[in-house]
Amino acid sequence: MKKKIAILGAAESGIGTAILAQKQGWDVFVSDMGSIKDKYKQMLIDHDIAYEEGGHTEARILDADQVVKSPGIPDTAPLVQKLIAQGTPILAELEFARPYSRGKTICITGSNGKTTTTSLIYYIMQRWGVDVGLAGNIGRSYALQVAEGDHDWYVLEISSFQLDNMFDFRADIAVLMNITPDHLDRYEFQMQNYTDSKMRIIQNQTSDDSFVYWRQDEHIEEELQKRHMGYAPKPTPSSRPARAGNPTLLPFVDADFERLGLSFSQMGQHNKRNALAAYLATRAVGADEQLIRQCLVEFPGVEHRLERVEECNGVLYINDSKATNVDACYVALQAMDRPTILIVGGKDKGNDYSTLFDIIREKCAGLVYLGADNQKLHDSFDALGLPVSDTHSMKDCVDACISMARPGDCVLLSPCCASFDLFKNMEDRGEQFKTLVRSHNPIK
Ligand code: ADP
Repeated sequence: MKKKIAILGAAESGIGTAILAQKQGWDVFVSDMGSIKDKYKQMLIDHDIAYEEGGHTEARILDADQVVKSPGIPDTAPLVQKLIAQGTPILAELEFARPYSRGKTICITGSNGKTTTTSLIYYIMQRWGVDVGLAGNIGRSYALQVAEGDHDWYVLEISSFQLDNMFDFRADIAVLMNITPDHLDRYEFQMQNYTDSKMRIIQNQTSDDSFVYWRQDEHIEEELQKRHMGYAPKPTPSSRPARAGNPTLLPFVDADFERLGLSFSQMGQHNKRNALAAYLATRAVGADEQLIRQCLVEFPGVEHRLERVEECNGVLYINDSKATNVDACYVALQAMDRPTILIVGGKDKGNDYSTLFDIIREKCAGLVYLGADNQKLHDSFDALGLPVSDTHSMKDCVDACISMARPGDCVLLSPCCASFDLFKNMEDRGEQFKTLVRSHNPIK
């Protein structure tokens, strides 16, 4: 009899998993609490895969031998609780698909810098001419690519939520950019739980595998030490213990950028770190040194990450809508070399803004609050004594920036917060910002 797999969440990763599982002979059932996008529904129909939307048929899901859950579904969801209680294995897409792939993997995680570093590594691998796929939190589903013909290499951006449901997965090259507080609501507000999740990137690695990491991070070296001394992290409710990992270490520090004489197309100290990580990871897999250097200079950047929108009446507008936590905003401000009007606000994830006070005093000429509820921003920042403006739509926000900014200033959208209070997502927030800024430019 066929083994049964239930897939919770019918978006990019869930659909890819379903198609791969079916190809591999599983009895597949896909279930989504919400509605499934037409594009994905059509894929399920085309592959003759059973599915439901708008709710879960619990009996059928609890009957599965294995469950793959979308990383967005927390362990606290009632159905997940039941699966945990009865001991059904719950896997991430990458964990499920890995055994079916011939490809080697370069896996990138961290609190910030994942997408930039992943995109840069993928760019270098493509320019090198190897057969490479881009997947994980970015691009097309890994499982789908494996099902549709597979690649020799994959560059995978991996979030902590995915890592929580990965146990046997082993990265050939693991990259950990940094660990700073984020998503703590999913980790019982315990920093150690979140840190343990990020450190899973090295699980199962052997000395044949490499671990690239930023040595100046506050946590990583200490966590490596702890693991060396036998520390075994507590698995999350839906996860299983995994082997700690003992990779060849490839640490880097900021000064390596100058020491190696590198140049990078993207601004800011943090981007030098992203460049160094990509340099070491692609060197480790044998890419040509000169080619890597050239790729760093020519890399076009990633949308919504310190993206230069345009200069209008002497004011430079920068879209960093992706800065959805305090640390990302901090590094963005560090990169500013003009008096800055900072746009901040949105859906707060339990932010502690106090770490920004000094850099705001140093870099900012004004603050524009943009959120459904700006009270916490007022409570946190008003005392700094800068001009502030209170807005609840992107239109009002851009108008406020235009009246506040003087020639020579820059306006930086780097909001520290998620976007869901006023926007569909961070892309929508960035697009609206760019469109409105451009519509004000008299040259256009
Ligand atoms: P992620 O995918 O981890 O969210 P991104 O590459 O999309 O990372 O960058 C998100 C934001 O984080 C950017 O807007 C930038 O301000 C900040 N950032 C990028 N790289 C780093 C880094 N290495 N260290 C700290 N912050 C960074």
